[in-house]
Amino acid sequence: MAEKKPVVIKIGGVELTIPPEAKVKDVAAAAGVAIPRLTIDAATCKGCQLCLKGCEAGAISGEKKEPHVIDQDKCVQCGECLARCKTGSVVPA
Ligand code: SF4
Ligand code: SF4
Repeated sequence: MAEKKPVVIKIGGVELTIPPEAKVKDVAAAAGVAIPRLTIDAATCKGCQLCLKGCEAGAISGEKKEPHVIDQDKCVQCGECLARCKTGSVVPA
């Protein structure tokens, strides 16, 4: 398996580098950055399911290759989906 690399995400204009085993919320908290409510841009979402698999709250649903959606009632704003999406489709709500 390929070596995991840090992921760089941007929240509110601030760049955060998330090491492979780190939680987005911990890195954001250490940087004093609040994770906003997030939504998925249906126009660019590829339905790859990476976000869904990484969402421990079970807040993301969607069929493969179809746009996914975030259930705001279940979302705990941990930001993990933001770090997993490779198409930049997870955006502030
Ligand atoms: S922010 Fe966290 S809880 Fe909310 S949809 Fe993304 S991964 Fe799931
Ligand atoms: S990771 Fe991104 S492209 Fe893949 S399903 Fe989720 S929002 Fe869509």
